[in-house]
Amino acid sequence: MISMNENKYDCVIIGSGPAGLTAAIYHARANIKTIVIAGNQPGGQLTITPMVDNYPGFPNGIGGFKLMMDIQTQVKNFGVEIKQGIVKKITDNFKIELENGEILETKSVIVATGAGVKWIGLDREKEMIGHGVSSCATCDGMFFRDKTVAVVGGGDTACEDAVFLSKFTKKVYMIHRREEFRASMAEQKKVFENSKIEILWNTEVKEILGEEKVNSIKIVNNKTNDEKILEIDGLFVAVGYSPATKFLEGLIKLKEGGQILVNEKMMTNVEGIFAAGDCVNQNHRQAILAAGEGCRAALETQSWLNRS
Ligand code: NAP
Repeated sequence: MISMNENKYDCVIIGSGPAGLTAAIYHARANIKTIVIAGNQPGGQLTITPMVDNYPGFPNGIGGFKLMMDIQTQVKNFGVEIKQGIVKKITDNFKIELENGEILETKSVIVATGAGVKWIGLDREKEMIGHGVSSCATCDGMFFRDKTVAVVGGGDTACEDAVFLSKFTKKVYMIHRREEFRASMAEQKKVFENSKIEILWNTEVKEILGEEKVNSIKIVNNKTNDEKILEIDGLFVAVGYSPATKFLEGLIKLKEGGQILVNEKMMTNVEGIFAAGDCVNQNHRQAILAAGEGCRAALETQSWLNRS
């Protein structure tokens, strides 16, 4: 039975990336009383992606920010409330506690919290954020015009970041711990064809050097153990993402890496709590996949609500 009570939601969607917002569209069309809790970065990680050219329907690509703002407008046009806020915890009687102390009551939940930046784990890495260390080439790249930077990682993000940074920096080193990238062929090709990018294979960063800001890093070749000081002005960390699921520990089953375990109906081990998108997926973190899973989680939630 669907709730008509003003103070209670049929579904609280946690997260406002492609998964959460797609779920919201499907709930609105099914007349499910829904609220989206938008999190720290409304619109999710795509909002800092300069160009999305693999989302169907945009023959010339679309800026990530524009795509997410358009989807958000679509959700609002359907009348769904989007509330800025962070969920602190979900209690076992389905009360959603926000960090500002507010409590929402709901019959079901869709967790679509995405994933946050993963760091290398170096001493001073966090302390030097904003002083030469960054995890966001799109946000901070412009501060390194005509400078030398290094990008750590060998995935799609690292390749994209290196190519993006090469547009205005003097030189980009790509530092990767193995001797082949895991990025798609398309992204690798752009790196290999870019004369401003030098790849340092089998290499790891050991130390960040520089007093007030980064001026170099100590690197080591993990095959030969040769150490070297590399002079750089900026260090961009692009070693992947960790699912934003810490607040669920102890409530629902998570995989070793923190991803939420769901069944084929996108439901977690707790009846009525569903999950979708990058907080579920270990690989293939793609906007279209997250949107598809958001749709599926919404439809499954609706069936579950109708049965309850
Ligand atoms: P990723 O695919 O997980 O790659 C992370 C990279 O960082 C790997 O090369 C990994 O090395 C390296 N790495 C991990 N931990 C490290 C550590 N502690 N020290 C040094 N290196 C470390 O992450 P991603 O590139 O952010 O991509 C995540 C997902 O988003 C992928 O599914 C990707 O396809 C997708 N994505 C797609 C696009 C696109 O379609 N245009 C753009 C961005 C991201 P190893 O290879 O040795 O493991």
